[in-house]
Amino acid sequence: MRLIEAEAFAGGLGLESYRGRQIFHQVYGKAADSIDAMTELSKEVRGLLSQKAYISRIIEVKRQCSIDGTEKFLFALEDGHRIESVLIPDEDRLTLCISTQVGCGMGCTFCLTGKGGLVRNLRSSEIINQVLAVQGGLPDGRRLTNIVIMGMGEPLANYRHTVKAIEILSHPLGPAIGARRITLSTSGLAPQIKKLGESSLNINLAISLNAPTDEQRNLIMPINKKYSMAKLLGACREYPLKRRRMLSFEYVLLAGLNDSPEDAHRIARLLKGIRCKINLIPFNEFPGSPYKRPSEESVLRFQEILAGHHFSAFIRKSRGADILAACGQLRE
Ligand code: SAH
Ligand code: SF4
Repeated sequence: MRLIEAEAFAGGLGLESYRGRQIFHQVYGKAADSIDAMTELSKEVRGLLSQKAYISRIIEVKRQCSIDGTEKFLFALEDGHRIESVLIPDEDRLTLCISTQVGCGMGCTFCLTGKGGLVRNLRSSEIINQVLAVQGGLPDGRRLTNIVIMGMGEPLANYRHTVKAIEILSHPLGPAIGARRITLSTSGLAPQIKKLGESSLNINLAISLNAPTDEQRNLIMPINKKYSMAKLLGACREYPLKRRRMLSFEYVLLAGLNDSPEDAHRIARLLKGIRCKINLIPFNEFPGSPYKRPSEESVLRFQEILAGHHFSAFIRKSRGADILAACGQLRE
């Protein structure tokens, strides 16, 4: 429940609305895992609450640790489906990568998550619970600093629950992870990008571009047949950016398919005039994957060409690849 929903809920139980505020703070800010644990509330109020509500949970089934410090969590949902989240420590940052769907219906050919299709959307509680569960298990004094919505699923295909989860995660009385420290990555649902731009959410937006022409993009990202690059980049150009903010474009480099110098020049021409940075992601292989990771040399050459066109291009480290926790390697 959002704060106003919690207040209205309290009202419906005949309680004063500040009780709703307390409940919201206990559940999201203090991560109370049962109504009985909310000792700030009287026994009567807790009894009343227990008749009408419960606090949903996800269960940690497995936790794997990579040699680079990345940790992957396998969580079971209440209906038995499973999702993964990835904790990525990096210097002074502690980033959690969260999922928004079980599976994914977008069918990108280079991504393991998409292989089994979409099973179902996550509810906002299931999105939030990934954060609460991981945060709750951190040693004293450690806190998540950033959230990336880049795990399993296409977040903008689950717009309502994703937006609600972001509102709650960033609320000062909740986990209080500021919107500027939350990044959502999308495969490019143009109408939802527009809608997100019109919302008051101030999060960072990343777009998985992955190809310089419609021909190439159609082959690896079926969504491109619905929203062509012209539509997608049109939505990006119109996206209202606050001062000093930038869009991010992600670009998975697939050997021999989209990693040539000509491809790099084309990308630079396409993105000209958009305030953005580019994250290059050398393809992460998974069992049975149809593509190859390009050589380090061609990755660096791609980066240099973009830099020559005055774009900031970063090469994303493949964190947790040894435990299949890197981009595109998550599954149920
Ligand atoms: N569905 C969203 C967010 C999850 S995917 C999206 O597509 O943006 C997160 C990122 O991982 C995307 O940029 C995607 O292009 C990238 N990715 C998927 N599979 C990959 C793989 N096998 N190797 C490298 N990056 C991959
Ligand atoms: Fe879905 Fe993103 Fe994977 Fe494409 S890359 S199948 S949109 S999770």
